[in-house]
Amino acid sequence: MRIETDLKLGFKDVMIRPKRSTLKSRSEVSLERNFNFLHSTATAWTGIPIMAANMDTVGTFEMAAILAKEKLFTTIHKHYSLKEWNEFLENASTDFYNYIAISTGTGKEDAAKIAKIIEANPLLKFICIDVANGYSEHFVQFLKQTRKQYPDKVIIAGNVVTGEMTEELLLAGADIVKVGIGPGSVCTTRVKTGVGYPQLSAIIECADAAHGLGGHIISDGGCTTPGDVAKAFGAGSDFVMLGGMLAGHTESGGELIEIKGEKFKQFYGMSSATAMDKHAGGVAEYRASEGKTVQVPFKGNVINTVLDILGGLRSTCTYVGASRLKELTKRTTFIRVSEQENQVFTK
Ligand code: 5GP
Repeated sequence: MRIETDLKLGFKDVMIRPKRSTLKSRSEVSLERNFNFLHSTATAWTGIPIMAANMDTVGTFEMAAILAKEKLFTTIHKHYSLKEWNEFLENASTDFYNYIAISTGTGKEDAAKIAKIIEANPLLKFICIDVANGYSEHFVQFLKQTRKQYPDKVIIAGNVVTGEMTEELLLAGADIVKVGIGPGSVCTTRVKTGVGYPQLSAIIECADAAHGLGGHIISDGGCTTPGDVAKAFGAGSDFVMLGGMLAGHTESGGELIEIKGEKFKQFYGMSSATAMDKHAGGVAEYRASEGKTVQVPFKGNVINTVLDILGGLRSTCTYVGASRLKELTKRTTFIRVSEQENQVFTK
């Protein structure tokens, strides 16, 4: 046993220090980024690097249709059938493929399923290989195999939280590494297993490792406010993935339910008992559920939430004098704090 004593921080432990700025208005800030990827031969990507999580209550076709119009990205959940994919993509523009990824686990059936979907829809450009624990040898082997099979695709792989594993995934063929173990809004991994890593430190360490090799990272999980999204970018994340913040909308999956006259949408972790009942015929005996099921108050159309997040992010950039999102990390100085917002009027 060993104890690491240097402090690891989460979003709640810091704020961004304001700096002198020559920007007159938030409208002068550009949130678009251009990326060239490490392995993929696909052309450069341009967009606003915020992503909807590949959860079946968030990463839906309906969500992708709206987010892509704003140049935001959706990792589509892995439970759509080939037929559903084909129908969905029937009228898709070429540009639309820049804003969606197909997701897969590391099982044989998963690999066979995405092979069929990609064969039928060769314009699909992004593949997201997603497992709860990105430290397994089997996962790395699967990633290598996927890279060999799809040399031109942009491969997202995760999740991990440390620099050395970020490097290993990039060297094994990932273009973008997904970072986050345990911070998610409906995640109970830290409670069930004791395993995790405060998200801000995970971003700082993994971004450093990835950027050294020419790779990119996604901060996945733990954002509860537009301010957290800004902190994730400030810490060095290239993309920020959101689950809970995009749940509960018209475009989110799940039933709209009414309880005592108020509207809610169900939202659950992808390894919650709810998800496993739905997709895997129940929780297998050898495992525990590592996700929660919650009712989120219905928030209407997602576009309003998106504009609120983008407005917050533009404002962050003006506070530190970054005219482009690209400059935000360079201009970020975090201060360690022991307070966040004033809660006096928070229910
Ligand atoms: P959020 O933005 O809601 O805080 O976090 C979203 C992320 O939580 C997802 O992208 C995924 O990485 C993670 N997640 C989703 N479902 C589960 C689950 O059931 N268990 C765990 N441990 N993490 C989950």
